[in-house]
Amino acid sequence: FAANSPHARDIATLVHPGTNLRKHLDVGPTIMSRGDGIYVSDDSGRTFLDGGAGLWCASLGFGNERLARVAYEAMKNIGYYHLYRHASNEASIDLAEKLLSIAPVPMSKVLLQSSGSEANDTAVKLVWYYWNAMGKPEKRKLIARSQAYHGSGIASVSLTGKPEFHAAFGLPLPGFLHTEFPHYYRQGRDGETEEEFSTRMADALEQLILAEGPETVGGFWAEPVMGAGGAVLPPAGYFEKIQAVLKKYDILFVADEVICGFGRTGNMWGSQTFGLKPDMIASAKALSAAMQPISAVLINERVYQAMLTQSDRLGAFVHGYTYAGHPVAAAVALETLKIYDEIGLVDHVRAIEPTFLKLLGDMVDHPLVGQFRGCGLIGGLEIVADKETRAIHDKALDVPAKIDAHARERGLILRFVGNRIAFSPPLIITEEQVGEMASRLKGALDATLDDLTR
Ligand code: PLP
Repeated sequence: FAANSPHARDIATLVHPGTNLRKHLDVGPTIMSRGDGIYVSDDSGRTFLDGGAGLWCASLGFGNERLARVAYEAMKNIGYYHLYRHASNEASIDLAEKLLSIAPVPMSKVLLQSSGSEANDTAVKLVWYYWNAMGKPEKRKLIARSQAYHGSGIASVSLTGKPEFHAAFGLPLPGFLHTEFPHYYRQGRDGETEEEFSTRMADALEQLILAEGPETVGGFWAEPVMGAGGAVLPPAGYFEKIQAVLKKYDILFVADEVICGFGRTGNMWGSQTFGLKPDMIASAKALSAAMQPISAVLINERVYQAMLTQSDRLGAFVHGYTYAGHPVAAAVALETLKIYDEIGLVDHVRAIEPTFLKLLGDMVDHPLVGQFRGCGLIGGLEIVADKETRAIHDKALDVPAKIDAHARERGLILRFVGNRIAFSPPLIITEEQVGEMASRLKGALDATLDDLTR
């Protein structure tokens, strides 16, 4: 790279998440400089359709004049204030009111933060706070699922069920446990129906709770659709059976709606699509169409009442962030939710869903594709070496990297999770653009197959 080019300066200065740092020295960055609807352009002028909406978040696409104006006004008016010691601001109040009015189950209060990781870290502390208030401080073990992603904070990454996020950090923290990965296509046994598989998953959860001692287990975490696990939909009956187990042992249920919230699954919340009745909800990402870092935890009356008692006992509720209730972020989030209402976002997602499911579903005819599953505008595609056995390719062949490179040549950004491709395009995508995404994907799969058979 030319000395002093942005590429050379990036390599000299930045550490990139999810990146092989040594490879980055040679490969360098792709510098994204402009956005227009569902497309982004890099600094050399190449344009891509982003099949992942950035990191599952740019629901309204890239670049947004209306939200920019709202941010500008909010910055001009006050720019910053906080929620500490009774302080408040109108944008946060309006946003909390709006969130409570659209919550999928009755919720009482809202805690604001700046990221999904902070939302889950907050919810972890609230589970502990709750059981302390209830006089059961030993009920503090938490259970999430293998392959789940809940964030990168110390607690949220401990909930995360991906070994690569733990290995070099001496994590997860003690007391963070993981139950089975409910991926029917991969984990289902020969002849087992989805319902039977779900029963087995719920039994495994119950066995884990019994082995640990129900009096020590305080909370359970789940995304309605597992995102970074590879866009994995819950098998039939799954949440019904899981929630029965949680109820039996009096375990709080936290729904991580960071990806699924705000239309992604064809309802405002993934909890509505799959019948979740959580005590708390963590949300972020599309809450502000990713235009400002903001997240929200919604809590129900049961949790709030315990907090009320405990904070009175202790003098204050001592947990929060400098940027909790940031008025600029809150104003942008509020405007985002207004835009969703105006454009009928959920109806739009439902209108596009059949085309999305059909065109990506047709990919299963391709020799490299074992399965496609999806709902709303989230979907997962399994890349396989053998459709019968569902075996994946030898790692040395680097098939995901090959598909990725061919897709980029064709102007398509894909999000890989191992041998799975997760789709979560901006929610404003049109039918025609879904067609474009599918045909670019098909081209990339064909080119990869050529590479492999040559
Ligand atoms: N929860 C889920 C389901 C996520 O997908 C993510 C991020 O991808 C997070 C939490 C963490 O959010 P953030 O990256 O904003 O901290």
